[in-house]
Amino acid sequence: MTVFKARKIYSLDEQGNIYNYLWVKDSKVFQLSNDCFAQPSARDGFKQFENNYIIPGFIDSHVHILGTGLQYIFPNFTQAQSLEEVYELLLEGRQKNKELKFILGYNLELDNLKEKRFPTRTELDRVIKDIPVLLYRIDGHSGALNTIGLEFALGDELTEGIELDSYHQPTGIVRGQAFERVARKFRQFLNPDLKTEAIFLACWQAARKGITTMVAMIGSDEADDNSIELLLRVKDKLPIEVIPFYQTLDINKVLALGLKRIGGCILIDGSFGSHTAALTRDYADEPGNKGVLYFDDDKLFNFIQKALQANLQIAVHAIGDRAINQVLNNFARFNCASPVFGGLKQRHRIEHAELLTDDLIERIAKLGLILSVQPAFEYYWGGPNKMYAQRLGERYKLTNPYRKLIDAGVILCGGSDSPITPLDPILGIKSAVNHPNPENSITVRQGFNLFTSNGAYAVFKENELGMLKPNFSADFVVISDDPFKTLDFQILEVYKAGKRIFP
Ligand SMILES: [Zn+2]
Ligand SMILES: [Zn+2]
Repeated sequence: MTVFKARKIYSLDEQGNIYNYLWVKDSKVFQLSNDCFAQPSARDGFKQFENNYIIPGFIDSHVHILGTGLQYIFPNFTQAQSLEEVYELLLEGRQKNKELKFILGYNLELDNLKEKRFPTRTELDRVIKDIPVLLYRIDGHSGALNTIGLEFALGDELTEGIELDSYHQPTGIVRGQAFERVARKFRQFLNPDLKTEAIFLACWQAARKGITTMVAMIGSDEADDNSIELLLRVKDKLPIEVIPFYQTLDINKVLALGLKRIGGCILIDGSFGSHTAALTRDYADEPGNKGVLYFDDDKLFNFIQKALQANLQIAVHAIGDRAINQVLNNFARFNCASPVFGGLKQRHRIEHAELLTDDLIERIAKLGLILSVQPAFEYYWGGPNKMYAQRLGERYKLTNPYRKLIDAGVILCGGSDSPITPLDPILGIKSAVNHPNPENSITVRQGFNLFTSNGAYAVFKENELGMLKPNFSADFVVISDDPFKTLDFQILEVYKAGKRIFP
């Protein structure tokens, strides 16, 4: 038994109980108590954090675990302010990975660059021309290639989304279907060792940020994609708990692997940033464009039907109102409440679900769907002066209406969508509490729920994770300040199943 003492231990349980002592036996919480209750005996290990606070470990409900890890291996452009800096980072990345026959680059935020645009194919050729290069836009829904990369990934194929210059030559910039095809092709380069390294790097980084459970979006329908098998093989060696969502439409494969859930970022539409999220009305900054729906109704209906019959929990990616509407229409064709389909118990999820009208909110509540939300999107792109307002005009006021959703009884779980936004639940909580549309902001406690108990509920772990209670996994974070007084606290120590994983 080890006993932890802190100034305050926030259990974040239903009653909001606060304690001073946390008793940990093996991997679990044994009991919680206050000073007056039983004193720890001499036999017990005793750790005191007189001036610090303890909270439950965080759950990030939506992480692309491979992409997250790969950005610690390949160049990451989050801080780049010009194309020149992008090129420097690219060359550095190549130096670091000399043995690789390709280079990826992550988190290109065009709005941060003084040029405000992608590099072209010919510009990239001047930096690296002998091996394929793919740079991902920060939203992961479009990218830029050098010439050899373009030839490798698309050959002569003409797919929707290949940008052409005035001479009808590809510029190297790809969106929509073409981008998906390119990304798929580049994934073939990722060998098992590289993937395994990325998985571990992502988990260690998560641990530093107080994340003790990660819901990992992984895999695809590509024939040679072995990422899910790889993850399942190393799962028990990882420092934190990883719960996979396998992003496939292949129900039999999911069942054969013994998984209870299917999907993740199965794209019903794209993103606002890349003008591919499906909208009911045109993009404000691209008249005539309403975004993309990747599924027709029959395909979506069939997928949902088969997954329901197999009793799987389903998650799909839908961002624009037109895409969310399509998802709701197709769920509504089933009597989801009937036991044949596992009823609402299956806790089906929509990932992101950003642009929401009152009508959509009501229908989501009625269907009992969980929304897996990323509050940091609002921090980076929400409000009247940022990208969402450019893309959506006045509709920016309708994005991520957390308070309305909670008031309507919808359960929200919180995530980062890393590498789209960093692994950082505190940033997520702050972003939800300080929502740029104040009428959509939520309380600090509600913010914590997104990244603790609701995250647990959204993967059927509410009796093990997300709170500090007897018999729950001893997952907790020691922090510098009282989180109900300030969210600017430091993470001092992180424990998973009773074991310290950070520092
Ligand atoms: Zn997604
Ligand atoms: Zn995602």
